[in-house]
Amino acid sequence: MAKIFAIANQKGGVGKTTTSVNLAAALARLGKRVLLVDLDPQGNATMGSGIDKRTLERTVYQVLIGLSDVTEASVRSEVGGYDVLPANRELAGAEIELVDFDERETRLKEALAAVDDQYDFVLIDAPPALSLLTLNGLCAAHGVVIPMQCEYYALEGLSDLVATIKKVHANLNTNLKVIGLLRVMFDPRMTLSQQVSTQLERHFGDKVFRSVIPRNVRLAEAPSHGIPGVVFDPSSKGAKAYIDFGAEMIERLDTL
Ligand code: ADP
Ligand code: MG
Repeated sequence: MAKIFAIANQKGGVGKTTTSVNLAAALARLGKRVLLVDLDPQGNATMGSGIDKRTLERTVYQVLIGLSDVTEASVRSEVGGYDVLPANRELAGAEIELVDFDERETRLKEALAAVDDQYDFVLIDAPPALSLLTLNGLCAAHGVVIPMQCEYYALEGLSDLVATIKKVHANLNTNLKVIGLLRVMFDPRMTLSQQVSTQLERHFGDKVFRSVIPRNVRLAEAPSHGIPGVVFDPSSKGAKAYIDFGAEMIERLDTL
């Protein structure tokens, strides 16, 4: 049975896509069968996996509105070693079209059930909003991974996200758990980063992942080559941190 994780944070630019792509590649390197679901109409996870979003006949959009199954719409990321259920701007329309569907929050969950035995991990890259697309991600998932920058406003958005997760847990998906908070773009030379990091550990205890992802230019450069950072420059600090994080996720599975 696949373990399904949504990588979510309603803020944009906090490292969701970088985490989704690099965790997918890290888990693949560790021998796991991985499907990465791009739920953001920007299609950054798709492009970052080396798949051209402009040439796709089928994407997650067709899956959500019932015109394709997951297998038909999925593409292999040869460079990453995992499968991708890709997205492009067409997906923005789903938000409106799904309103007329019954059980519109569980469309992705239903679709993923068909490939459950084909993967060890399904990772869902959520868009930067608490939208119907994000709800589909949260309903399909067993757990949420929340990437966070250790900055002053980081904690502010967190309460909205946690409230949404609680609502989804109560009404739609009793399996859902926060798996953990992942510190990303960490700069150890900044006192503020250290302070916020300590605060996170104090408040959230073992919900904070041990792995910390540093700010690392190689991770930022990799997407323009269509290659996950962990493959683009495996010896970089950022790549190593994501490999460690992959191992930590595998470890945490035992506690789920
Ligand atoms: P989101 O998906 O939450 O919008 P992204 O993963 O796209 O965020 O990251 C936002 C920007 O920050 C991107 O340009 C990305 O390359 C960069 N970035 C993400 N993580 C790191 C990191 N650890 N070090 C350096 N740059 C990063
Ligand atoms: Mg993104």
